Amino acid sequence: MSPTRIIHKLRIMQQLALRWRAQGLRIAVVPTMGALHDGHVALLRAARRKADKVIATIFVNPSQFGPREDFAAYPRPFAADARRCAEAGVDVIFAPAPAAMYPPDFSTWINEEALTQYLCGARRPGHFRGVCTVVAKLLNITQPHLALFGQKDAQQALIIQRMVRDLNMPVRIVVHPIVREPSGLAMSSRNQYLTADEKGRAAGIARNLRQVWAWHAQGLTLAAIRAKLRALLRREVSPQIDYVSIVDEGTLRAVRTPHKRQKLLIAVALFVGRARLIDNLRLTW
Ligand code: AMP
Repeated sequence: MSPTRIIHKLRIMQQLALRWRAQGLRIAVVPTMGALHDGHVALLRAARRKADKVIATIFVNPSQFGPREDFAAYPRPFAADARRCAEAGVDVIFAPAPAAMYPPDFSTWINEEALTQYLCGARRPGHFRGVCTVVAKLLNITQPHLALFGQKDAQQALIIQRMVRDLNMPVRIVVHPIVREPSGLAMSSRNQYLTADEKGRAAGIARNLRQVWAWHAQGLTLAAIRAKLRALLRREVSPQIDYVSIVDEGTLRAVRTPHKRQKLLIAVALFVGRARLIDNLRLTW
């Protein structure tokens, strides 16, 4: 296997990708913000199995952070990331400079207008505008046949699928299941912000989410399930709950009276210490 190449320049990346395409090679891209963990690596390995050339993008995208969010503090362990990419058989790390991605007169943005109204979209104004715009740019630069995203960010994956469909982008979006720590905690670069004690409490997110399946089997109503989950998260994990929502998996609209077999997403966001953590679970009613 050839060593992982690191490319910073947008034009060099795009020219290489176009050359690969001209040679008939199948390209997969995994967009990330770096600080890679085993969740990212699972996406990279899945990409390796599905394509001839694998590109990992590492870019902490300023435009998806709110003014009071953790853009400056976000971890950037580039050397360790490069090693993980090499181990996962990545062909190219594309790590552009913010000033190259967003020149001073940058003025074109992508706004998805339906799915962004809910969950994190409602709590983080402008977040998905930044995500959609940067992902569209990364897809244009890396010219992939496939792009892999994680179900950990379920709303993001859905919005990207909508954007790609609505704008006729010639790429297939693959959504990878959530990768978890042995404790159940969903892996996240932001878990690095947690103290050992906070990490222990954060494991209660997944533990209580999984209870939802049992409560549903016991015949609890949706309202009762939501109230129970909220109370347990508040007591065992953190009083600073951003949202506990039960929504339709396809539209992300809140569901009050589900119909039989309706596919639901139970999505939660809460602050534990200085980390904002999200997790979710699917439930067929
Ligand atoms: P990030 O670097 O946090 O922007 O994540 C890059 C990609 O990896 C996104 O598509 C995430 O959904 C995905 N991802 C992050 N954490 C996990 C996880 N624990 N399991 C599966 N996918 C993940």
